[in-house]
Amino acid sequence: MKYIVWACLLLGTFGGYGQVKTRKSDIVLVVHGGAGTILKSQMTQELEKEYTDGLSEALKKGYDILERGGSSLDAVEAAIKVLENNPLFNAGKGAVFTNEGKNELDASIMDGKTLSAGAVAGVTTVKNPITAARAVMEKSNHVIMAGAGADKFAAQAGLEIVDPSYFFTGQRWKALQQVKKEDSLKTELDHSGKKSSSYYFTNKDSKFGTVGAVALDQYGNLAAATSTGGMTNKRFGRVGDSPIIGAGTYADNNTCAISCTGWGEYYIRLVMAKTISDMMEFGKIPLKNAADEMVMKRLPALGGDGGLIAVDSKGNIAMPFNTEGMYRGFMKDGKAEVKIYKE
Ligand code: ASP
Repeated sequence: MKYIVWACLLLGTFGGYGQVKTRKSDIVLVVHGGAGTILKSQMTQELEKEYTDGLSEALKKGYDILERGGSSLDAVEAAIKVLENNPLFNAGKGAVFTNEGKNELDASIMDGKTLSAGAVAGVTTVKNPITAARAVMEKSNHVIMAGAGADKFAAQAGLEIVDPSYFFTGQRWKALQQVKKEDSLKTELDHSGKKSSSYYFTNKDSKFGTVGAVALDQYGNLAAATSTGGMTNKRFGRVGDSPIIGAGTYADNNTCAISCTGWGEYYIRLVMAKTISDMMEFGKIPLKNAADEMVMKRLPALGGDGGLIAVDSKGNIAMPFNTEGMYRGFMKDGKAEVKIYKE
């Protein structure tokens, strides 16, 4: 009997006798590079290509991991690292500046199988904040670590540490000066795309976004991750939704995995990601309907804007946004699709 059980396990895992390896789930990866975009009328072909190439590279990196039988956690972390290293996006290198002229980075990651989660807020020296979030999840008893303590923890965990000047980019610096000129205390979503913002029109290159990834692996496990520099001109100590589990990031194998992008304060107040998960779990509402309700109705009703990416346990994808565009893409059945604007 023991041998029969082992044989079944091996067949299930490796296929056996030339059979194709059976997957429990379809594999899916979805990424975003921020909701709200450079207005279509102001986008150049070259820049559009740079964005789509960046998103495609992240998709490829994460999807390869899923295809080789890797976990959704590894896939979302790898995809985010690609985007953090790309100065076009407001995460890692290329992050926006605080009111004090610093880069303070937030990131989080969640494992839908165990509901384990990790996050860092306001780190200034970790090259890839998403790796620090994962270290908090796996190497500490905590969920969120902030500021100098989080930087110290990342160094002790052996992560790559850089001088804060590594995150500097001229465009982001210019964007900070511009916002300050308008109003020294005004915070500016780097990607809001609000037509009412004169800053938006005068600084078309400043609307680069937070990054996120959600994945379903072949074992049926979901994971979500988000990383950001936050908002241009944010005040000291400001923490957005991105490192808040349940607001900017959430994953539960019973429902879905979500990564948000948008005006963080509103996402926190709506407990955006967990509310969608709860709507699915307790209200039996399909992912798309739950996500649309929150992003297209509840969020603007409060005065917020943005979007999110999500995948449910069956591999269904939702990518709603109430801004002009959202840098986004997904890979499923071996095919990738990357988009910036509405259809
Ligand atoms: N949600 C992020 C924050 O408020 C910003 C973004 O999505 O770009 O920090």
